[in-house]
Amino acid sequence: MERVRVLDSNGRELSPCPLKKARRMLAQGRAALVREDPLTIQLPYAVRLPPGPQVTEDEKPGKGRSVLLHICCGPCSTYCINRLREEGFLVTGFWYNPNIHPFAEHEERLASFEAYVRSVGLPVIREDGYEMPLFLRLVAGHEARDQRCRLCYEMRLMRTAKVAAREGFDAITTTLLISPHQNQDMLLEIGEKVAREYGVEFHFENFRRGWSERGRLTREHDLYRQQYCGCIYSEWERYAGEDVSSPQSGVRDV
Ligand code: SF4
Repeated sequence: MERVRVLDSNGRELSPCPLKKARRMLAQGRAALVREDPLTIQLPYAVRLPPGPQVTEDEKPGKGRSVLLHICCGPCSTYCINRLREEGFLVTGFWYNPNIHPFAEHEERLASFEAYVRSVGLPVIREDGYEMPLFLRLVAGHEARDQRCRLCYEMRLMRTAKVAAREGFDAITTTLLISPHQNQDMLLEIGEKVAREYGVEFHFENFRRGWSERGRLTREHDLYRQQYCGCIYSEWERYAGEDVSSPQSGVRDV
C-alpha cells in the first residue's frame, strides 16, 4: 500500500498515511499539498510527540556495554546513534544491506552513510562485497511483502549477530526499528531469535519516537534520502503504486 509523507504545520515529519486517506484530506481541505513526488501533505496544526524517556546517569541501560548497530541507511542512523550513546552504549555501526537494489542505489546510500558516520566519529564494520544474488535467491517465490521482509530482516540481523559474536559485542540492534514503514513486532521476534542463536542480546527500543528528529538531522546533514525501502520489489511498489502480492502483479504466475 502506498504511503504518503505527512508534515505538521512546523514541518515536523509524522507517521506516513495511506494514499486514499491523503487524497481525502486534500479534497476536504484538511491538509495542503506540499509536493507531488514523493507525495507529501501538510496538516494545518502542530503535533506534539511524546519525548523518549529521560536517561539519568545512574540508570543508563547501556553503561559499559557494547552494541553492534545494524544500519540500514544514513538518515535512520542519525537518531539511533545519538540515542544509544545517550544511554551509555559503546556503539559500533554495521553495514550489511544486500537488499538495496540496484547497485548504484546501494553505493549512493553507502556513501551517504559513510560520510555521516565519519562526521559523528562512529566506528564501523562493513561487510565487503554486494550479496544481492543471495538476497534474490532467498526471496524467490516469497515476494509478497510480509514474506520477503521477514527473510530480509533475518538475513541482515543474522549476519549482524554473527559478526557481533565473533567480535565480542554484548548486544545487537538495528536502525530499522525507527521506521514506521517496517514491521517492529517482526523485527523484535527475529532479532531475539538470531541473538539467542549467537549468544548475544537483542536490544529492542522503540526508536520511532525519534522519527521527526531523524528528519531534522537528515536535513541538517544533507543526507541522501531514498525514495523506496530497498529491494526491486519495493521500488516497483513505490513507483507503480502496486502491491507485489496482489493478483494483478503477475508474481503468482511466475
Ligand atoms: S521492502 Fe524493504 S525490508 Fe522488505 S524485503 Fe524489500 S528491502 Fe527488505
